[in-house]
Order: sequence, then structure tokens, then C-alpha cells
Amino acid sequence: MASQPGLLTEWPWTWLGRFKYVVLAPWAVHSTHTFLTADEKQRDLGYFLIFPFLISRIIHNQLWISFSRYRTAKGTNRILDKSIEYDQVDRESNWDDQIILNGLIFYLGITFLDGTTYIPLWRSDGVILAILLHTGPVEFLYYWLHRALHHHFLYNRYHSHHHSSIVTEPITSVIHPFAEHLMYFTLFAIPLFTMWYTGTLSIVAFAGYIIYIDLMNNMGHCNFECVPNWLFHAFPLLKYFMYTPSFHSLHHTQFRTNYSLFMPIYDYIYGTIDKSSDSLYEKSLRRGEEYPDVVHLTHPTTPDSVYHLRIAFASVAAFPYSSSNKWYHTMTRWPSMLISALFNQPVVVERNMLDQLRMQTWVVPRYSYQDEELNRSGALYVEKHPRMKIRLVDGSSLAVAIVLNSIPKGTDKVVLRGGTCKVAHAIVQALCRDGIKVVAVCKSEYEKLKSRMCSDSANNLVSSSNYSPTVWLVGNGLGEEEERKAAKGTLFIPFSQFPHPSWKTRKDCSYYSTPAMVIPKALENMDSCENWLGRREMSASRVAGIVHALEGWKEQECGDTMLEVAKVWDASLRHGFRPVVGPLN
Ligand SMILES: [Zn+2]
Ligand SMILES: [Zn+2]
Repeated sequence: MASQPGLLTEWPWTWLGRFKYVVLAPWAVHSTHTFLTADEKQRDLGYFLIFPFLISRIIHNQLWISFSRYRTAKGTNRILDKSIEYDQVDRESNWDDQIILNGLIFYLGITFLDGTTYIPLWRSDGVILAILLHTGPVEFLYYWLHRALHHHFLYNRYHSHHHSSIVTEPITSVIHPFAEHLMYFTLFAIPLFTMWYTGTLSIVAFAGYIIYIDLMNNMGHCNFECVPNWLFHAFPLLKYFMYTPSFHSLHHTQFRTNYSLFMPIYDYIYGTIDKSSDSLYEKSLRRGEEYPDVVHLTHPTTPDSVYHLRIAFASVAAFPYSSSNKWYHTMTRWPSMLISALFNQPVVVERNMLDQLRMQTWVVPRYSYQDEELNRSGALYVEKHPRMKIRLVDGSSLAVAIVLNSIPKGTDKVVLRGGTCKVAHAIVQALCRDGIKVVAVCKSEYEKLKSRMCSDSANNLVSSSNYSPTVWLVGNGLGEEEERKAAKGTLFIPFSQFPHPSWKTRKDCSYYSTPAMVIPKALENMDSCENWLGRREMSASRVAGIVHALEGWKEQECGDTMLEVAKVWDASLRHGFRPVVGPLN
């Protein structure tokens, strides 16, 4: 938001929320209906194509968002290292408002201006006219309008909203108050209006001009250098007529240089070119892939969770993933299958920094609930690569610590159900040792757990169908039917990294999230939620890897091996990680 919001800052349809697209509905329905029902010779292709064109612009922008997030996480040719946080994603989540505005103006133009129907597909004179008008009046007027917008009066009321993002994402380009968009559209209307006025308008010139604006806007804000050097060698004058992402990045970091729209020539003419434009461009082009100190390996958990990936829908990923009541969950399988087919290896989706430590998250392009039997919690890799320099950390000791610290003080009896993994076993050991009774309500689980108990306190693990204790420690194996047997007010604490798909059905009970911690303030570049966890919460496995690297521990934590629970817990707290406060509801 601008520091002192001025007149017409808000978009007129913001109050409609997710239903804002209804403002385009009358024209979208009318144009489609008339096109489909009219006689072949009476069909107006231009009018009909407006709505599909608006959809194609949304897809175009989304592709830039995804590609930029992938490239900037990987690090190759990245321009700025500064982080993006949730406030930026929230501020920029209405990037499609300008497409709605353009759609309305296009439809109004066709409805009220004579000569905008039945326009031809192509006219060379119109295209030349548009190029000349853009290079001349549009770029010139934009330059001076932009400089005026940097005057403190207009800057505080309008333009500061765009400059709230120092490091930019492609769609930062269209994040302006409503009034500022009206100003910009007035400029872009010069070639469009002139073509209409002179009768030289064509579908290709119209659509091509809008695509050019979208392409240059997205590119200029993508935060990785993508304009190849050979282009400027082949066409030396091009540097005056085409900006680069690093050129505009300097406008966002320096504020008082590089005001030009897409053509730097006006900055050269009026002496506002940033002296480091060329050097930043060269430096960004030379920059190689970043090598992290810690890698968090993850994967989509269900077919529809693919939409929640950070490189998919940015504003969806900025909220905890929920598998219910989302329109896009109906279109589930094909994107997952497409991603699996396109990528054979893990994809870098996120980078984080904690002081000097560099971290990345890699997504394995397969979805499933984790089955630790598959690779024995990583032990298979250690056996296959005995000289491997990487340490594998599954975070089981931290998960145990988090569960133990979530159990309310004074609890003398807990129910355990849904797994016999090493985490469950370590929790049972610790509780029994502290004199807390553990009721295993499943006979086979009881026998498995009992067989690995060796201390005198093993008597505290009992097999019973007594569901009355009001603290339940649960894994994947808890069924909905058993959940219903819990007493009113029961607290469910999961020890599994994955919540059971059908749990949390009881309104009269409380549920903790899967083992996780709140990250320290110093951990940067958090702009998406890790699966179902809340903002700035991180799973035990991910935290454990970071703490392991910060401490410089040499041991692996995989297979049956587990680090000392108290040592890992203390180190996590020492590095600023905090327990998640209270249950979810
Ligand atoms: Zn500016
Ligand atoms: Zn910008």
C-alpha cells in the first residue's frame, strides 16, 4: 500500500473478492454467444477473441512467475539476492486486476466506438504506426510521468506501492494503485487509439502490442538476467531501445535512476542512466548456479498439492495447504503427471538464508505419502555411497523432542496409535522412562513396540482398548472410526511427518500440527508455506537439517540411527527456532 493512499487507490471491484471476474461476464457471454450463433460472414473475430486473449495474458504472467521463481531459486544469472517475504506476495496477489481493467476498457471500446468491429487480422501500416508511436510519444511521456510519480506528493500517494518491492517478481510490474494504472493505460492507448482513428487497426497489431507490453514488463521484473549478450553485439543500438532485467532492477534499488519504460534512450538523453547498468548486466550474466549448504528434499503429497508448490500459484503457496473446498482440486492429476514427465530429477523451488548458511528446497517430481520402508529413511543411500560427503538428516530426534514438549505438563497417561516407526518407539521409551503410562490401543503395534523395549520402565507400556486418556499421540495409521472413540476434549499430537488424510473430524477435540517449529526472524526468503504448516513454521525434518549444519555435526541421522533428543532440542532453541504455540484450533 502507498504510504499515504490517494484518490482512486483501491480497485473498484475489490469488494467482490474472488468473484471479481463477474464484471467481465456480460461481454464474455455476449461475444461468445453472438460468435457461435451468427452467420459465418457476420462473425466478429476481434470481439470474440477478447476474452480468450485475457485468459492467455493470465497464463503468460503465470508462466513468468513460475519460471522466475525456479530460476531465482537456482541462482543462475540472479540479479538481486535480497529476500521476498509474505507481505510482498500478499501485496502482489491482485496482479490480475489490471487484466480485468484492460478487458473492461476493450469491451467498452468495442461497444461505444464505431469502427472497432470487424477489424482485419493484419495491416502493415498500422503495425508501423504503432511502433513509431510507442518509441516516440509513449516512451517519452512515460519517462516524464514516471519522474513526476517520483515527486514526493505522487510518490507517497501512488508510486511508493510499486516500489515497496525492492527485489521484484515478474508480476511486480503490474502492482500499482488503480489510478496509476489508468494513467499508464492512457499512454498505451495512444497507439491503439490512433490506429483506430486512422482506420489502420488490426487484430495482430492490437494483440501484439499488448503482448509486447506484458512480455517486457514481466521480463524487466524477473530478477534474473535473460537478455543474451550476443544480441547487443549484433545490434549495438539495441541498448537504447530495449531494457534488460538488470536495468530495471537498478530502478528498484536506486530509485532515482533508470526511469525509462522499456527503452533506455530517454535515460541517456536526460542523464538519468545508472552508471552501473552495464556492469550489473555483465555481472548477472556471468553468475553461475548457487550451491547450497543444506538441501531439503520434499515432494508433492497428493496430486492436487502440485498447485501449492512455490513455483505454481504464488498466492496459494503463501497459505497452508488444505485439501478441501478448492475449485482447482477438481483438476488434479494431469499437472502432476505433466511435471513428473517433464522433470526426471529434483527441481529447485526455494532458497533460504540464515546468516551465512545457504539452503535450498528441492522437489522430487513424484507425489505420494512417504513410505519409510522404501529407502529405510535414507539408510539405503548411506550403504550405497559409503564415502559420501553429505550428511543425511531425517529429523527424527527433533520430531521426538517436539512431540514430548507438546504433551501438557502433568499428563500421566497417553494413547499411542498409528505407527511403530523409530520416532514412535523413541517417544514411548522416553515417556515410559518418565513414568507416563502409554496405552497402545492396537495389539500388533503394542507387540512391535514392546519387543524393542529393554528398560525396567517397559511396564508403563500397556495394551488396552481404553480410549479415555485425553492426550493421543498419533501416526498415519489412525482411522476415522478410532478418532471418534476419543473422549471429548482430547488433544491429538501427531508424531508422523504427514497428517492422516481424513483426520481432524472432531470439533470437540484439539489437534496439533505435524512436528514443526517456528523459524527465527533471521531466516530469510520465506514466502510460501511448507505444505499444511502455518506461515514461518517449518517441519522437524527441515529444521533438523539446518541445525545439523549450523552445529557442524558429523553423524548421519537416517535408518535406525537417531541423534540425542535433548541435544538436538537444545541446539534448535539456541539457534532461534521456537515451539509452535498451542494446537491448531
Ligand atoms: Zn519508479
Ligand atoms: Zn518496476
